[in-house]
Amino acid sequence: MKLKSASFLKLLVLQCLTVLTVAQDDFDFFYFVQQWPASYCDTESSCCYPTTGKPAEDFGIHGLWPNRDDGSWPSNCNEETFDKSEVSDLIRRMQQVWPSLSCPSSDGVKFWSHEWEKHGTCSLLNQHQYFQIALDLKEKSNLLQVLKDAGISPGKFYSTERIEEAIQNGVGYAPFIECNVDEAGNHQLYQVYLCVDSSASDFIECPTFPNARTKCGSRIELPSLSSSRDQIDEI
Ligand code: 5GP
Ligand code: 5GP
Repeated sequence: MKLKSASFLKLLVLQCLTVLTVAQDDFDFFYFVQQWPASYCDTESSCCYPTTGKPAEDFGIHGLWPNRDDGSWPSNCNEETFDKSEVSDLIRRMQQVWPSLSCPSSDGVKFWSHEWEKHGTCSLLNQHQYFQIALDLKEKSNLLQVLKDAGISPGKFYSTERIEEAIQNGVGYAPFIECNVDEAGNHQLYQVYLCVDSSASDFIECPTFPNARTKCGSRIELPSLSSSRDQIDEI
């Protein structure tokens, strides 16, 4: 009898631990975050172009981030490290649309490793699925074209509302827009957040917008790479 209740207790503790682990890693949807290179380059720390070439004047992927409805998010869910060989067929596309702009110049692997290890390991996707889905979402959102169709092009100022409306109309869902402030004090469009369902199959309305972000003023710049503060020269 004693033995039976000891094993029952053991089982109960094990079950509780499993529930707790699952609860820590769970999520409700993804943020798909795209960054505007020229705005990244106008932030205080400036930028360095990738070793693979100057980035295109287009949105680049920042990451696909599992998130919970209450605003919290899981991170670094397991020890699986980024393995370039798992995504060898995607590397060329990643270099083009997921460039790393931080200094010193890099080929992107450090940035992709960071995104995979921090966010991807919580996504319930394998590495190939995670990167392939992010690349496909970037293509599907087609943000630069959506803005162009609404008469919005790099190098000018626009009302934040007009940019939000253009994305809402073009993608079909309301974006969250994060701004940065350049040296002259101008608000610039820095990142666009779109939401994706938890199986990463389609865009959805955002259950919650991220908080503690630099809000945009009513008038924001979509800077052009040629007019942004130049990259730091490599020493
Ligand atoms: P997160 O903000 O996704 O946790 O972290 C971004 C990390 O990736 C930071 O350590 C940042 O220095 C690095 N990183 C490398 N390249 C880029 C880039 O192009 N954009 C951003 N936002 N972070 C980058
Ligand atoms: P920052 O403090 O620069 O806005 O964010 C730093 C990093 O924290 C982001 O690159 C991202 O990795 C993570 N992060 C920030 N805000 C959120 C959020 O609302 N949801 C998720 N999933 N990750 C976030």
